[in-house]
Amino acid sequence: MSRIAVPGDIQDQIVLLSRRRCCICFGLCGDVDVKAGQIAHLDHDNNNNDLDNLAFLCLLHHDQYDSQTSQSKGLRENETKRFRTELYNTVSVALSLSERKFLELFGNDNEGLELAEWFKRLQDTALTLTASVQCLGMRTPLPFDSIYQPTRIMVAPDEDETGTQLYAWGDRVSRSILRGRAFNEQSISVDEFLERDQDALILSGPGWGKTTFLHYIFRRTVQKDDLLPVLITLRRPNAVDDLEKYVQACSRIQKKQHRACTLLLVDGYDEVNTDQRRRVSEALLQYQARRAGKFYLTCREYYQISQINAPEVRLEAFTRDDQVRFVRVFLSKFAVIRQDAEVVVSQLEERGFAEFLSHPLLLTLACIVRTSSTSAQPRSGLRLLQRALDVLRFQWAEQKNIDRQQSTPLDGRDRVTILKNIAFTAKSPYVLRQRAEETTRKQLALLAMDKVDPRQALMEIARFYGILVPAEDGYEFVHRTIHDFLAAQLWVESGEFAQQVKYEWNARTGYAACLMRDATDVLKQALAAPDGLPAATEIIGNSASFDLRTVADALIRYFSANSRVLEHERRTHDETNSKYAPRITGRLESDFIRLANSRFLDFIVEYCCDKNSRVADLLVAYAAIELYERRLKLMHQTYEKALAAYKTETFTFVVPGAKQAQLQFLNPVLQNRMKDVKGPVIETAE
Ligand SMILES: [Zn+2]
Repeated sequence: MSRIAVPGDIQDQIVLLSRRRCCICFGLCGDVDVKAGQIAHLDHDNNNNDLDNLAFLCLLHHDQYDSQTSQSKGLRENETKRFRTELYNTVSVALSLSERKFLELFGNDNEGLELAEWFKRLQDTALTLTASVQCLGMRTPLPFDSIYQPTRIMVAPDEDETGTQLYAWGDRVSRSILRGRAFNEQSISVDEFLERDQDALILSGPGWGKTTFLHYIFRRTVQKDDLLPVLITLRRPNAVDDLEKYVQACSRIQKKQHRACTLLLVDGYDEVNTDQRRRVSEALLQYQARRAGKFYLTCREYYQISQINAPEVRLEAFTRDDQVRFVRVFLSKFAVIRQDAEVVVSQLEERGFAEFLSHPLLLTLACIVRTSSTSAQPRSGLRLLQRALDVLRFQWAEQKNIDRQQSTPLDGRDRVTILKNIAFTAKSPYVLRQRAEETTRKQLALLAMDKVDPRQALMEIARFYGILVPAEDGYEFVHRTIHDFLAAQLWVESGEFAQQVKYEWNARTGYAACLMRDATDVLKQALAAPDGLPAATEIIGNSASFDLRTVADALIRYFSANSRVLEHERRTHDETNSKYAPRITGRLESDFIRLANSRFLDFIVEYCCDKNSRVADLLVAYAAIELYERRLKLMHQTYEKALAAYKTETFTFVVPGAKQAQLQFLNPVLQNRMKDVKGPVIETAE
């Protein structure tokens, strides 16, 4: 077929609007790479050079588009036009607005113009990243607004109360006790959050949606006339350099400008190494000093954010309504299940998934596992993840009604092997194209499939699982937890982890330990290492197998060192003129023990109740309060032993900022009695 050239000026316009992105690549795969391509006539009439009839398509999609018959289900004209509109909106409109705002703030002299060029690329990346959300298990990314459920934010009470002192940076880890449960935090909407004239450290556990939340903020503010949002995703290559360069450039902002003219969004403090974290902290300190605007920094819980002094906020857990809305959207995008979201959430609760429904990642995993016939309930988030991956690998591929055209001879096992190998060799979830393809080529050769095109294999893996998906210049793991988990699996299966002598104390090491038959030794080492807390937290929080006594001893040693007891007081019966029930009151520097499984918490009570040391006292207090919060009782022998040690069933455990528990609440023979008793459960503040 001969193609008549489109007039030059119209070509220029199309190229400018699309910035050489193929709208079908974008619409189907979220792929916004610059492509070699051509301008297509959407109505197949080569003389119709109306702007609305033209689109820039990559060579592959142009051929596909032109070769289809009018009956074929392929790339219909309207669908392609819709993709085109989304693409233009994404890369072009917002970008020029950002450019204008940038030049206004930073000046349009030579240096300013040069900076603007660099900034354009930065903003281009950010607009791309925030355009869609890749859900685990989804064939293609979904447009951002179709899936995102705006969450609420937990913040400390307004200024000028005890807040300032409580929020000094040196004491950060201890404050995790406040995590979403404390009475003195309040929940606010995103709008209220944006209105606050404060920087913020956004903390929460893995999978709570910190990145998506930050993307939401970017999307909300990029349209505003008077605010320039800048998104720095630390796990991306050169991100720290970009951050430093931006902060440096902020010195050019005219002093007369209003303070809040830029909003710096920095994602993933925990995802870079120690040296880079130091640089990020320093850059943010400088940014604060330059008074160019606010910053929001995201980080996982239990990481130390050095130097920076800013209020902490946390994403609130999903309410029941949020859960139903999320599941409804998930199901509607998802060919496999056609069911009422309300019913699905209830069934997940009945099947023991209740504690996994509080935030997006685990809820997604629970939905995926829900599609399988298994009735067993995973004991931890990591096991749920394992189960979900198994479902993706074995069951989905076989379901006939799933629209997943297979283009290679790979089976589920092969695909997961390739995924694990890429995960293992990549430190960052962001994998350069060349590297991903090289690893895939090697694995294909080992699988005796050296004739399969690695690129095709990677695209198929992306379509089947939605775990490793195309991104600018390469591929990206949609979630860091999944990336680390796949890497940890290969690490353990290959035997390399068992031979490791020196560990890097991060989540990946933690997951690997969880996959071992016995994690005692790794956990002991983590607790003894100065920076081992993030890994120890993962191991304890994911129901790893370990020797209870050895680990309890390691915990006692951990909290006995470096003044990790922040507060301790024990009152007994004998003390005269005490109007309170006998009690232990106090705080430890960190509350990660609350993540432990219930068996270990029970053991802590049993093992520590008669030790009579500050640390042992407080470990019992944390364990007892956590069990009470979970509405669980102690085992019989444990209760007997604790009663003998504390002498009275009204003995009370108090951790400021958390609920209080009396020993009798945990009495295994008093089933449910306490639910109806109001008096002693909530003691008023002293
Ligand atoms: Zn394309």
